[in-house]
Formats: sequence, structure tokens, C-alpha cells
Amino acid sequence: MGSVAVNWKNMLTGPAPTIAADPVAGLDAESDDHAPRLAALTAGLALADPRERLRVFAERLPRRLVFTTSFGIEDQLLTHHILGDGLPIDVVTLDAGRLFPATYTLWQTTEERYGRRIRSMQPDGPALAALVARQGINGFYGSRDARLACCGVRKVEPLGRALDGAAGWITGLRADQSGARGAVSLAAWDGERELLKLAPLFDWSRERVAAECDRLAVPINPLHAQGYLSIGCEPCTRALAPGEPERAGRWWWEQDEAKECGLHVGADGRLVRGAAPA
Ligand code: SF4
Repeated sequence: MGSVAVNWKNMLTGPAPTIAADPVAGLDAESDDHAPRLAALTAGLALADPRERLRVFAERLPRRLVFTTSFGIEDQLLTHHILGDGLPIDVVTLDAGRLFPATYTLWQTTEERYGRRIRSMQPDGPALAALVARQGINGFYGSRDARLACCGVRKVEPLGRALDGAAGWITGLRADQSGARGAVSLAAWDGERELLKLAPLFDWSRERVAAECDRLAVPINPLHAQGYLSIGCEPCTRALAPGEPERAGRWWWEQDEAKECGLHVGADGRLVRGAAPA
């Protein structure tokens, strides 16, 4: 892949950049100089809203884009823009088989609202059978390793299939969701999966997302109003007490601050984050 098509250093230090500066020229999985290109992309879209960011990703990135939704409030806002605007982005969910009934109902409601099927990725049958035979149906409570094994079979392996051949992976991550997610940025290079990881809501607060969903009448999970701010599998999610951090209700019996299921974690155990401008 050739050299950078924009003077990204000037973009970062000069007047506010515009999208017309073509911040994603040549940016794809074959690029060999991701840092400046990601800096250009982030600078070029700094002032854009999430809807515009999604539109630019869909228009300018050359190969398949996948958006994974767990039907949380951030994902619902992105789903609204992707499906409402008919963007050529695959919308996929990882059906771990242990979701809340309210989440399955929201899944159906969302498909009916936007008139499009959301692709479901299921755990590999033999692998799931072997997992349950080995550790029991609720074996994930037994140890952190057992929990990660369950997340691995029910979520991480299906995610790999969902992203196979994709140039970009769009998520609803926000930087202020937790300390571990604090360095999430608009665009990061996921070297293990060899794709761009894009977070159009990285600089939005939960309150801003909620207000936008309200303004646009986006369907959201009724569990949010009952104290479930971050919603995953039913046996691994509890409601928050007032003042608790947003992700404290996920795997609450574990003491580790980094409440992650492995979807956003690299081989070194750290979150795949945005690349800082070089
Ligand atoms: S969140 Fe819980 S039930 Fe869901 S895959 Fe992970 S360990 Fe298994």
C-alpha cells in the first residue's frame, strides 16, 4: 500500500480538519503504516457525529465492514443509523444462548422496526457440548479460567467467524465506560485480527447516547431502567447499586477491574485500543 494521501501532521496542528480532506484514503487491512492513517482518520472525523462517522466508514473503506451488537444502548443507537440509513455494513450479534429474555425481545423489536434481519452467530455445537460436559451448565462461576473458557466458546470463537474476511469491525465502545476502556479511540489497528477497529461513540457519554436514543425514539432494553447499565448474559449480569461504576454488574463475583469477555482483548490480555497519533 502506498504512502499517506493527506498531510496528517498539518491536519492535527492546523485549522479544524474537514471530512473533505479524505482522511481514509487508502486505509485498509493491507496498509503498512497504520499510525499516521489512523491519526488522519481520527482528526478528520473529530467534529463529525456518529451517524456521519458511520457514513464515511461505509463509503470510504474498501472492503466488508461488520458491526457487532449486543443490543445495549450504544449498539441500538448505531443500529438505528446503520439500518435506518441503509448503510452497507453487516449487523451481527453473538447469541451466546444465555441472554436475558428482554434482550431477545429487543432483538425481535429491532428487526421489526428497521425491516432487516440481524445476523446471528451461534457457538460451535460440539465445542459447546464439550464445555458443558467439562464444567457444567453454570461452570463459569467456578473460576476466572472457567468463565473465560465459557466466554471463549460462546462469544469469542463465534466473533472470529463473524469477522472473517472483514476490513473493519465497528463497536459501540465508549472511552468512559470503565478505566480499562479509557484509551479507546475512534480507530485502532487490531493486529491479531488484522482489521480496523472502529468506535464511532468513543467520545460520547452514556447520558448523551441516552438522550439521542430518546430524541430518535430508538428502542432500548427496558432493563437499563432497572439498573442494568451494561447488559450481557443473564447469569453474569446484575443490576447496579446507586453510584457503582457502569460495568460493575458484569461478572460481579470477580475482583479484576477489567470486566471484559475477551472480545476486545489482545493476546497480551490488554484491551485493543486506539493508536495514538505518532
Ligand atoms: S458472559 Fe457468562 S454465560 Fe455468557 S459466555 Fe461469558 S461466562 Fe458464559
